[in-house]
Amino acid sequence: MLIEFQEFPPIGTNAFALVEPALGQFVVVDAPAEAYDWAVQLSKKYDCQIIALILTHGHWDHIVDGHKFASAGISTYGHVGDKEMFASPSKMASYALPGLELNPVPILHWIKGGDTLKLLGATMEIRHVPGHCPGNVLIYLKKEAFAIVGDVIFAGSVGRYDLPGGDFSVLQKSIRTQVYSLPEDTTIYPGHGPTTTVAHEKVHNPIVKA
Ligand SMILES: [Zn+2]
Repeated sequence: MLIEFQEFPPIGTNAFALVEPALGQFVVVDAPAEAYDWAVQLSKKYDCQIIALILTHGHWDHIVDGHKFASAGISTYGHVGDKEMFASPSKMASYALPGLELNPVPILHWIKGGDTLKLLGATMEIRHVPGHCPGNVLIYLKKEAFAIVGDVIFAGSVGRYDLPGGDFSVLQKSIRTQVYSLPEDTTIYPGHGPTTTVAHEKVHNPIVKA
């Protein structure tokens, strides 16, 4: 499996593509602005079909392009904790950039902590990591030794907990029980900023200690 990722405007949100060339398939995680066109380019580059869009959470900057994937018939996955944001993203307009069009994202598959998705011939473990928002999930691929975590934790920081539905004590618990419990050599791909590891954050994260 290959992983590609890129940072997108307008506020530097990462999107990820998990590509399995042997199967001619790939899965996209998160849909910031312009991510749909990027994914279409990747599908040409690898001669692969986009089979799923998994949304780590419902914040506007992670779902702006989600409706384009859904309109193209791609299966969408999200956690019910952020149902309202997927259904009515315009409610987040006051946090988004003025003039940005926010379209509802229909979610086909509601996922929850403890679920295991079998996609790309791989096993993807879903862990529920609320605190930044109610519906943040991380996607852990044990065999590949990485986790795509949304905005629960960043390299040297943590997700904002002052937005509606945010709560620091909940966030802290999510990080300690669901992120720091992953094997230390697990690579963490956050929703913003650079890649890190479980081992590094357990020692160096200034906000949530192990
Ligand atoms: Zn967020």
